[in-house]
Amino acid sequence: MSQQIIIVGAGPGGLATAMRLASQGYSVQIFEAADRVGGRMRGFVDGDYAFDTGPTILQLPRVYEELFTESGLKLADYIHFKQLNPNTRIRFWDDSQLDLTSDLDAFKAQLAAMRPDLPAAFDRWYTEHIRKNEAGYKPYLGSPVRSPLGYLRPGEIAAGLSFRPWETLYQHFWRFFQDDRLVYALSYPSKYLGMHPTVCSSIFSLIPFLEFADGVWHPEGGFRGLAQALAHAAKDLGVKIHLNCAVKQVWIEGDRTRGVELVSGERIVADAVIVNADFGYGVRHLLPESARGRYSDNKLKSMQFSCSTFMLYLGINRRYELPHHQLYLSEHIRKRERPWVDDSALDETDPPFYVCNPSIVDPSNAPAGHSTLYVLVPIPNTSYGVDWQSKQQAYRNFVIKRMSILGFADVEKQIVTETCYTADTWRDDYNVYLGAVFNLGHGWRQLGPFRPPIRSENVRNLYWIGGAVHPGSGLLTILEAARSATFFVNQDLGSLTAV
Ligand SMILES: Cc1cc2nc3c(=O)[nH]c(=O)nc-3n(C[C@H](O)[C@H](O)[C@H](O)COP(=O)(O)OP(=O)(O)OC[C@H]3O[C@@H](n4cnc5c(N)ncnc54)[C@H](O)[C@@H]3O)c2cc1C
Repeated sequence: MSQQIIIVGAGPGGLATAMRLASQGYSVQIFEAADRVGGRMRGFVDGDYAFDTGPTILQLPRVYEELFTESGLKLADYIHFKQLNPNTRIRFWDDSQLDLTSDLDAFKAQLAAMRPDLPAAFDRWYTEHIRKNEAGYKPYLGSPVRSPLGYLRPGEIAAGLSFRPWETLYQHFWRFFQDDRLVYALSYPSKYLGMHPTVCSSIFSLIPFLEFADGVWHPEGGFRGLAQALAHAAKDLGVKIHLNCAVKQVWIEGDRTRGVELVSGERIVADAVIVNADFGYGVRHLLPESARGRYSDNKLKSMQFSCSTFMLYLGINRRYELPHHQLYLSEHIRKRERPWVDDSALDETDPPFYVCNPSIVDPSNAPAGHSTLYVLVPIPNTSYGVDWQSKQQAYRNFVIKRMSILGFADVEKQIVTETCYTADTWRDDYNVYLGAVFNLGHGWRQLGPFRPPIRSENVRNLYWIGGAVHPGSGLLTILEAARSATFFVNQDLGSLTAV
């Protein structure tokens, strides 16, 4: 009989790991607390409108191709991706704007209009990043974690140092461009790694490079469609997905997992358990005290978690001919002191914000002539104690008014349906610790061998998959982690082909 694996949670990490393991002959079951798959990207339908809840930016389609091919399937049989142009439109504090695009000539034409020497500076940056990608992607993002000493290989150190990893993202981009608009436009993704550009390591300059080089994509049917596609593929490979089936606790005897105990009280035996539920939540609620290892409440409190997000999901009775992704970079993102640098207080005057207008490429999510809008504002996670009961309505009104900055004029009058999430929603409805939606920050103390590992350090045959464990947060990273999780399971259960 094939070996039994249980996965707790049908987020993208859980689904991808299930696909890989099932394709290698394991018998895999997923237990999911919600009524549908996808985790933070599960989406929802409100009347005639369908919404994505979390991810909107798909990078590196080849990672999805690899997941399907290596599982013996064809991605195109399940979902199609559409490339966006521009990747993102950025509007700045001074009312100027810049379209980030993978059409590099068009991008450099905009740079030339900003300052004549910028196109050549961009070429230098881009060429350096072709090398940086070759040196950095596979060993760090695309491979299982090593011990701290394992990272001290002389050849890799020499290559790594040439990229000045000690610089912050801000310093890195400033060295090339000396233009604050361009520097923040390229370094802003650090926010989604839980950090401000002035404290985030420059190793993450690889992210904007990958967007320039490989584009930004949208899955047809949205990210909720992507979640369904992963689930269909997993089922085709034999995975059993149990919805509305919350796990109460991982069942541990001595120093090894025996399976899981469901909220219903039923116990299911397994040879290995992989927890895809959020790490901070999982450590606190799904493990017995004796199995938490070093992740005590005090340890979790000392770790740095990302911001949360205030969300508006609007069904709209018209369409806006505006780009799919738009970001407003306010004057406040240039501030380098608290609370702006660490999102430790709610910005009620000039926050940066992002609007996704997916109907422009995917009209199926709304009736003809209508559209949906998704608005995201970074806010403090719940450790900073914002009282959303009293703040929510006023903040919603404030954000709706601000949308005109990005061209969404008179939006209030066009709203047909409306749903609002705060940090409390992410914590309570999605089981995300502190509502910190981008998981653990990616500072040096929480990277590589210092990030929680995929393979539990103290419980045998227990694994974690998701944005908090190595290598980090975001879909592409988590899909890479699914490969590593499969590698560890193969090593430990031993009988099957290693990846
Ligand atoms: C607003 C927002 C915007 C984002 N934008 C992007 C983006 O543009 N691009 C990108 O790459 N990433 C983005 N992300 C990040 C991305 O969504 C996450 O990294 C990803 O969803 C994490 O996947 P995961 O598999 O770790 O877990 P999750 O998505 O958190 O899934 C965990 C699953 O575990 C389930 N679960 C929890 N507790 C239990 C239990 N007790 N029993 C059973 N099941 C349980 C949950 O219901 C959930 O389905 C965004 C996230 C958010 C919230």
